[in-house]
Amino acid sequence: MQGQMKAVIKPAAAPGAQLITAPIPQPGPGQVLVKVRTASICGTDLHIYFWDPWAHARIKPPLIFGHEFAGEVVELGAGVDSLKVGDFISAETHVVCGKCIQCRTGNAHVCQDMHILGVDIPGVFAEYVVIPASNAVINDKSLPPDYCSVQEPLGNAVFTALSDDITAKTVLITGVGPIGLMAVDVAKAAGAAAVFVTDINEYRLDIARKLGADLAINSRNEDPVAAVKKATGGAGVDVVLEMSGNPTAIHQGFAALRSGGRVSMLGIPSNPMEINIADEIVFKGAKIYGITGRRMYETWYQVGGLLRSGKLHLDTIITHKFPLERFAEAMEIMRSGNSGKILLVP
Ligand code: NAD
Ligand code: ZN
Repeated sequence: MQGQMKAVIKPAAAPGAQLITAPIPQPGPGQVLVKVRTASICGTDLHIYFWDPWAHARIKPPLIFGHEFAGEVVELGAGVDSLKVGDFISAETHVVCGKCIQCRTGNAHVCQDMHILGVDIPGVFAEYVVIPASNAVINDKSLPPDYCSVQEPLGNAVFTALSDDITAKTVLITGVGPIGLMAVDVAKAAGAAAVFVTDINEYRLDIARKLGADLAINSRNEDPVAAVKKATGGAGVDVVLEMSGNPTAIHQGFAALRSGGRVSMLGIPSNPMEINIADEIVFKGAKIYGITGRRMYETWYQVGGLLRSGKLHLDTIITHKFPLERFAEAMEIMRSGNSGKILLVP
């Protein structure tokens, strides 16, 4: 397709971004051109926008960023037979090599040569984006584009929550940012016996309460370990889903875990941190999972199934929606923490 499109780019190695007019990209062999209907902002986009040390080390401007979206296939590159024009899709954002041992053994989510949409290759804060056809996931047309747009982070929540048994278990979620909130919803939908959450942000704790969290603990005001122990008859929880990346919250999660429980860790601490391996893991007989991305593509089928079940409450988690042009305002609100998920509509 010939023509121009609006796009938000990181023009140079500095804070901020710019709305520009750029040529509509052309799909190469095995790729498709997608018209973006709805995009959403991830924490990664904040790192890129505000240009923190991670972004400085990783991002090579100029770059159209953004990676969470839903849209319509408008053009097929050579050799694409898995999709057709008009398909309503979202996409796995990890573009993998398909050749390494992980890719060839069903573990492509930890591929050795991974490129990320909107991080290493042009992203979705634009009217159009080109993606590999094999990364596309066809959405049920009855699902709202807004919900489909957030399937990628929802997939993080689903992979973390369902990485081991959760039904009839007591669960502590440390950190209820957008992904932690989604995990509350997923844990409830999967039949957790009780869901406790911690955060230091009242706005988000309130959303967790609306989603049915049994205890929403502000760990600035109350000792979360004591509260969780009390609520579990002294034993501690069966499952911890770590979704803060905050060292204090991580230690509290281990302390609130019952012996023999499992911890699934999604949150990414900004710096290396110390863990007392003997007391926090070994003597507890804790089972620990590191969670990266989403299983390709098992997690996507689980996400689709949960969306179709009608058991999720994404309306409660999506708190703001802006036209693409107002990206700066959206980034500021997201940074303030007074938001759940924020959508950008080209
Ligand atoms: P976010 O930063 O919006 O959420 C983190 C939440 O933790 C915030 O609400 C914050 O207030 C809360 N928090 C901070 N200190 C706390 C404390 N002491 N106790 C309890 N809560 C505390 O991030 P998000 O987008 O919801 O993502 C969650 C985490 O997962 C982040 O660390 C992010 O980097 C990481 N992540 C990992 C992957 C992966 O593939 N492993 C993918 C996406 C995001
Ligand atoms: Zn690979």
